[in-house]
Amino acid sequence: MTTTSEKDFSIYFQPPSLKDAKKRGKEDINVHYSFEIPDEMIGFGNDKTYMIRTYGCQMNEHDTETMKGILEQLGYTATDDKHEADMILLNTCAIRENAEDKVFGELGHLKTLKRENPNLILGVCGCMSQEESVVNRILQKHGFVDLIFGTHNIHRLPHLLKQASFEKEMVIEVWSKEGDIIENLPKKREGLKGWVNIMYGCDKFCTYCIVPYTRGKERSRLPQDVINEVRELARQGFKEITLLGQNVNAYGKDFDHIDYRFGDLMADISKIDIPRVRFTTSHPRDFDDHLIEVLAQRGNLVEHIHLPVQSGNSDILKKMSRKYSREHYMVLVDKLKAAIPDVVLTTDIIVGFPGETEEQFEDTLTLVQEVEYDAAFTFIYSPRDGTPAAGMEDNVPMDVKKQRLQRLNDLLADIGLRKNKALEGQTMEVLVEGVSKNNPDMLSGRTRTNKLIHFAGPASLTGEFVQVRIQQAKTYLLTGEMVKEETASVS
Ligand code: SF4
Repeated sequence: MTTTSEKDFSIYFQPPSLKDAKKRGKEDINVHYSFEIPDEMIGFGNDKTYMIRTYGCQMNEHDTETMKGILEQLGYTATDDKHEADMILLNTCAIRENAEDKVFGELGHLKTLKRENPNLILGVCGCMSQEESVVNRILQKHGFVDLIFGTHNIHRLPHLLKQASFEKEMVIEVWSKEGDIIENLPKKREGLKGWVNIMYGCDKFCTYCIVPYTRGKERSRLPQDVINEVRELARQGFKEITLLGQNVNAYGKDFDHIDYRFGDLMADISKIDIPRVRFTTSHPRDFDDHLIEVLAQRGNLVEHIHLPVQSGNSDILKKMSRKYSREHYMVLVDKLKAAIPDVVLTTDIIVGFPGETEEQFEDTLTLVQEVEYDAAFTFIYSPRDGTPAAGMEDNVPMDVKKQRLQRLNDLLADIGLRKNKALEGQTMEVLVEGVSKNNPDMLSGRTRTNKLIHFAGPASLTGEFVQVRIQQAKTYLLTGEMVKEETASVS
């Protein structure tokens, strides 16, 4: 049996470097269209099973779809049972400390499995792998891991797997370089909804955020490649797509051969026969008037915008390096509400950023009241190694941070409930997602504005659009009754 100390990793060791990742190179981004499974790996996964555990954001979920696609081309089949898996990958998230803690906790459990089955291949990938401190910790304390790779070299999975399985050495391949764009990677998509990457990386360097270091510089996929992928999803019958990027509003800024931005892309995608189109995540700084004009045309572009604000105080926003002020943000919100009167806005907010005073926190509360968000993801600030904010004095006591989070969440819940109550009696278009997990007599679906709704109906309606009259509204759930079935897609 191979043990931690017996493993030799030096041959393949390319350490990740946050320092190198911080350098934004001038070299061109190359687009590669030539992904192929190497001949010697064809059938490698026949009669073998895999399991991927995904942490974090939709970008990671989508990367998992790509890895599943690659593994299934190798012949692997999926399993939900880790005891029967021949390979387990943890696709990790580095955004918050507790996300990392979960992964290390899981590795602790998997150690026993690896002991029982030395042939199990155990891999760690995703954003955590891009951090030197994480790789070092795995090397020191979790040497039973077979494979570590990062976010820029998913397409190398067949090669890395070959190394990890044939040579029984710990394989670590994490690229600090910013990454090219690899098209034509296989993807295993399931369900009614598809995610489509439109760009990779982020150049914003918010001071608390590790993503620009783990995902590289902003690089946009060519419009035709995105449009072709969306057309293909429409052809396959997907009902909804979400365009993905760390900062979708920066789409096209890196093109030097064409003048084509996110608004242009949305205008082109709005002509494709797919019923609903969403996007995430927006950055307020790059949200331009042309995009607002295009969104105001609606059609398949839904009236829900996730617009992270992070703080309602301009000084804190400056310390976060968000590159907009409270005033700028409110002007943008006003424009959106003027152009799309029933727009549903949601956001992300961090409380307890280093140095945040009570008054500055109250600015966040007043901004929340002014915008009237329907919902928000709220977080207590936690430092990430290697980011500028980690070097700032974190002088807000934890009990104060917790109280602020509670006050913020209470306010958001009040506003959310009030806004949902206003929907009672209205009839809304709902995409039926399936039978409710909590109540087998009810169906579960989503409105165009992404609100969760339960109502009675047959499971055969899954995947259809129906009209539902809202009867009762709670903070996070609407219930109603179906008034009319609509089998045609609405666009
Ligand atoms: S915009 Fe800021 S918070 Fe979002 S990924 Fe980029 S650096 Fe991180």
